[in-house]
Amino acid sequence: MIKYKLFCNNCDLKFDSWFASSDEYERLKKKKLLNCHKCNSFKVEKTIMAPQLINKKSKTDEKINLEKYNKVKKTIRDYQKFIKDNLKYVGDNFAYEARSIHYNGKKKSKGIYGSASKEDLKELKEEGIDAQMIPWIDENEN
Ligand SMILES: [Zn+2]
Repeated sequence: MIKYKLFCNNCDLKFDSWFASSDEYERLKKKKLLNCHKCNSFKVEKTIMAPQLINKKSKTDEKINLEKYNKVKKTIRDYQKFIKDNLKYVGDNFAYEARSIHYNGKKKSKGIYGSASKEDLKELKEEGIDAQMIPWIDENEN
């Protein structure tokens, strides 16, 4: 079965119709068995459909987006690697650890990284503690 969008040249009605095959459509049209649902005119035509063109375009866009995404992801991963190699992971204790470094004057200690809420970051900033938020990709995510 094939579904065609049909268009009536007489009244501009557009409607869908099912045919066993494209040959059947041609046969019905030749025999003047195809008529408009609304005005019964025989000036009914298949509308030109271009789904392939549309698909092609969106696929290209998708590819570009994916490439962009992968590039960004690579940058983030490189950054993550640097952080993991050079900083100490403190998990959810980030705000606590950041304060302890700041207030205990452990300036020479290794930098830290971990998770903190936006609230935490705001408070740390108000206390003069420098912290930065960076995008993070989960190891498990691919
Ligand atoms: Zn019509």
